[in-house]
Amino acid sequence: MEHTRYRGRFAPSPTGPLHFGSLVTAVATWLEARAAGGDWLVRIEDLDPLREPPEASHQILHSLDAHGLHPDEPVRFQSQRQAAYQKAIINLLESGKAYRCSCSRKQLQAHGGRHPAKCRERDSLSDQAPQAIRFALTDEHSHWQDLLLGPQQQTVRAELDDPVLQRKEGFYAYQLAVAVDDIDQGISHVVRGSDLLDMTAQQQQIFRALGSSPPQWLHIPVILNEQGQKLSKQNHAPALDDTKPAMNLVHALAALGQQPPSELAWASVADVLSWARAHWRRAAIPLTSRQARGITPSTQSHLDH
Ligand code: GLU
Repeated sequence: MEHTRYRGRFAPSPTGPLHFGSLVTAVATWLEARAAGGDWLVRIEDLDPLREPPEASHQILHSLDAHGLHPDEPVRFQSQRQAAYQKAIINLLESGKAYRCSCSRKQLQAHGGRHPAKCRERDSLSDQAPQAIRFALTDEHSHWQDLLLGPQQQTVRAELDDPVLQRKEGFYAYQLAVAVDDIDQGISHVVRGSDLLDMTAQQQQIFRALGSSPPQWLHIPVILNEQGQKLSKQNHAPALDDTKPAMNLVHALAALGQQPPSELAWASVADVLSWARAHWRRAAIPLTSRQARGITPSTQSHLDH
């Protein structure tokens, strides 16, 4: 499918409330969509109930709302999309682009990533052990263009890198669901953190296997904590304070290299967002990751009082 209209999305996994790093991503996705006069969607990637506190989706949506980031269409929840993922799996299995695999992580490690049971080559439908479904990658030196980072090269290794599409426990995996939904929602542009950069060439193969041309990608640098780790729920990033949305947005804009004046932190959320739309410069986004602590608006004054 060729895309005629810009459609972007913010697609958080609800492993906890929105934190500063995810706000930066949300703001970048929103501004790119607004700059292109396109649509901005929110998709909750709630695929793994074991890692997702039940209240997190609601907290994320509440935070986005408090920060004035309102999606143009109803929010999609991946937990309600099981039938579509199942259909895609069947289609990929039937066309030989996916296969059943009962290897454990340990077994794969012991064989340098090769499947001792030769899963790719045989039909293991009758095996008793629980099975995952994996995508059968093709060996490829992939070259593609990131809208911020420029030309990218990635090597995709068949068998060794084959991603899981459905886990042994039955949960659908991120790599499948993200492609199925980006295709179904007509997403033309994906803006996301550069921690997902390495997945992109594999995802392009999954898009093609599902009969669609991949979207364009723009990877923004991730925000780091003081230990130099990605701000994330796993690393206990604090939840955003929803009572200070303008200040949070100003800091997020500074993280995106936009140099908002510090006074903007005292303006309304609507004013901050309208400043951001009027001044948005993709080229100003820094290329490398930065620590949240070192990010300040352009004239540091009374911001942190
Ligand atoms: N759900 C993913 C995450 O929160 C992002 C998916 C994507 O943007 O491709 O890390």
